[in-house]
Amino acid sequence: MSAILDKVTAVDQLDVASRRVFVRVDFNVPLTPDGRVSDDTRIREALPTIKHLLEKGARVVLASHLGRPKKGRDAKYSLAPAGERLAELLSLDVILTDDCVGDGARKVVQDLRDGRVALLENLRFHPGEEANDPAFAAELAALADVYVDDAFGCVHRAHASVDGVPRLIPTRGAGFLLLKELKALGALVHDPKRPYVAVLGGAKVSDKIAVIDALLTKVDALLIGGAMANTFLAAMGRNVGRSLVEGDKLALARTIAERAREKRVALVLPTDVVVAGSVDATEGTVVAADAIAPDMMALDIGPASVAAFRDRLLGAHTIFWNGPMGLFEKAPFAAGSVGVAKAIAEAAAFSVVGGGDSVAAVQQAGLAGRFTHVSTGGGASLELIEGRKLPGVEALRG
Ligand code: ADP
Ligand code: MG
Repeated sequence: MSAILDKVTAVDQLDVASRRVFVRVDFNVPLTPDGRVSDDTRIREALPTIKHLLEKGARVVLASHLGRPKKGRDAKYSLAPAGERLAELLSLDVILTDDCVGDGARKVVQDLRDGRVALLENLRFHPGEEANDPAFAAELAALADVYVDDAFGCVHRAHASVDGVPRLIPTRGAGFLLLKELKALGALVHDPKRPYVAVLGGAKVSDKIAVIDALLTKVDALLIGGAMANTFLAAMGRNVGRSLVEGDKLALARTIAERAREKRVALVLPTDVVVAGSVDATEGTVVAADAIAPDMMALDIGPASVAAFRDRLLGAHTIFWNGPMGLFEKAPFAAGSVGVAKAIAEAAAFSVVGGGDSVAAVQQAGLAGRFTHVSTGGGASLELIEGRKLPGVEALRG
């Protein structure tokens, strides 16, 4: 077993019958303006763990945050819609507590029978959650005998429900989703099969500098697209017109390029781009990457770049992708991201995509099923690849 799972107990190795099991899930789902769940992926991803616990006769106490409520209790951020959706998916009543701690929550959990589910109201209605306040963690921990973390998207945050609570509950372990994520992403860090090719894109170099650094010690080629590529092109002295570029990161981009040369990592930039006069343009024009007019912005990688990226990807045995190749939300600028998604789908490689927008691009292309792993955690997947310790995983070790 890989080091990342060292001393982490799997949920199916825990004795849970008739016990109160606190399960940290990620039910931070998008809602419609009228308060319904618009995408229930995160709820469905937690079902294997929840169903397993119910079959074993556990008393399941679910906990999650939703959004970023600023001023305590706020109906807009209630977990009620998530609870309703879960009840539909399980065909079982889900009791929502009025608050995640206090008399109401204690009473609901006390009365909970074997094989039944309670959902605690939004953890972030209490500032103690994000502050990892010991007293708040102790109140939550008092609600359970066993702790299970299945919220991969949250394990990089040392919040009370992720860090403080498991440290207070000796019988603890990882849910099936968390295990699946750690295995897939761990395989990218520990002895990946070569050639290993990473594709990075998205809006900013600054968001991803730490992961670029880490990848340079692991990969054979780093393909760069998206607005991130503009910063690299500008650093090489190219005129990028009105493209989104981080003017204060040009020196950093040059350092990265230098480091790639030292480490003999192929740093592959777009040779052509799709430009338009504005992000609302209904079509784009393909130009060479060194011929971007001053009044134009590069909004996608061009077809020659897609072909070059595709070649590299088809030869890879391990692939990691984070960050779209362009403004994929707009149809005229989606071809780069779709082209990369298709190439990865066709490659005979162990392939992982992470990052909210990248995953959305893969889903939009209908290709999610053809990736080895589609990560549910953006920030968490990047921190894992950077080789950083994830507080929520460290807190589970026995
Ligand atoms: P992820 O969520 O996958 O980690 P990011 O959040 O870093 O990705 O970046 C995604 C955003 O970057 C998208 O909204 C996308 O439209 C934008 N983007 C990518 N390329 C460009 C570009 N050339 N110009 C403007 N925006 C871009
Ligand atoms: Mg994003």
